[in-house]
Amino acid sequence: MKITLKFSIIGLILSALVCCQKAEKNYHQNIEKHTDDIFDSLVNIKRDLHMYPELSGEEKRTSKIVAEYLKGLGLEVITNISGNTVIGILKGSKEGKKIAWRADMDAIKIETHDTLDYHSQNKGIAHMCGHDVHTTIGLGIANVLSKQKENLQGTIYFIFQPSEETFTGAKDLIDNGLFDLIEPDEIYALHIGPAEKGTINTKAKELFAYQKSIQIKFEPDTNEEDITMFLTKVMQGFVRNTPNSEPWSLDYLSDPKIGLENKESIYKDYFILQYSGIDKREDYVSFNAHFLETNKENTDSIPQQIKSKILNSEFKNSLISVAYTSGNPTVYNDPELTTIGLQTIDSLYNTDLIKPIYGQIPYFNEDFIYYQQHVPGVIFLLGGSNTEKGIISMAHTPDFAVDDDTIKYGVKYFSSLILERTNSK
Ligand SMILES: [Zn+2]
Repeated sequence: MKITLKFSIIGLILSALVCCQKAEKNYHQNIEKHTDDIFDSLVNIKRDLHMYPELSGEEKRTSKIVAEYLKGLGLEVITNISGNTVIGILKGSKEGKKIAWRADMDAIKIETHDTLDYHSQNKGIAHMCGHDVHTTIGLGIANVLSKQKENLQGTIYFIFQPSEETFTGAKDLIDNGLFDLIEPDEIYALHIGPAEKGTINTKAKELFAYQKSIQIKFEPDTNEEDITMFLTKVMQGFVRNTPNSEPWSLDYLSDPKIGLENKESIYKDYFILQYSGIDKREDYVSFNAHFLETNKENTDSIPQQIKSKILNSEFKNSLISVAYTSGNPTVYNDPELTTIGLQTIDSLYNTDLIKPIYGQIPYFNEDFIYYQQHVPGVIFLLGGSNTEKGIISMAHTPDFAVDDDTIKYGVKYFSSLILERTNSK
């Protein structure tokens, strides 16, 4: 009797597990099907947003479209928290984890070579960073997951954020009480990347280099040529890179041997210096430079190290100050959630398009870091290029374009990931 009971209990557990797995598979099959069903309507939304791009802080039309769409799905919608921000709240059938998804909505000032039928109607402004696609994918995920309410155990917050390009939108939103209003356990986002459509790239910890501008001020009568020569030599002493490599060039990012996806990437460890000139004013003369550094600890100590080199030189009595003039925090992906995120998408979609990267990308950054300072999270790069068709998704270039299929990949992958994370223990 005991043994039989034991067996029947094991049998019950096993059948429950199989049943659970089946149900789980069904969620994701439903997500795929639903994404395919709404794909054409999402492409139309993207084209409309692409035609009417709005600069940072001016995303009125876009945010109105977003708010109406979310209301139409039956989500609770908040619009009066910070600038043109729109927050949509989707509650599942049971209590569970709270997951936030962030999409940015602003466009940039740029003259483009855009010859598409739906090219920008706002002169000198265009979606050359792909935020029209981010917004569309965010709406697509909200649509797909709103039909999964019965299977959803937890709450999803959709944050449609303005002013990412000026690096102010996320910070303002948080300063205006975002995390008093919502308390997500995890936060996720994507940015269109230059890889082939559907590719997912990301890495644990820093995704980009630390970028800092430094200003070294001297008394106004200091000889400009002498300081330039001396400081160029000092700053060159900090330069660090894999021998015979050019990490300051983006040409090698996707090189299989030295690019981001190789464990021996030349983008893993570097200090790149970009000298930006001398500025002569009435009360000072300043030496200005910009650098890209992969190691945060180095960035903390560089001003002090430069200062001590100057204080040990013939210029010690002319020095006024050494200080950073700009430098934003850098995206920092939670290591555990990065692994879970990549594995979850990989296991559900069984694709060879999931590619962790090992180097830090120079030049770009994302104000998503301000959320990550409060909540563990990950930003993924979703490839949007289709080289066969001549579509290359290199952000902020005048030829930037995104293959429409990218929307489909984004909605499927991330609807599934969010549902999995919401339902996880
Ligand atoms: Zn962007």
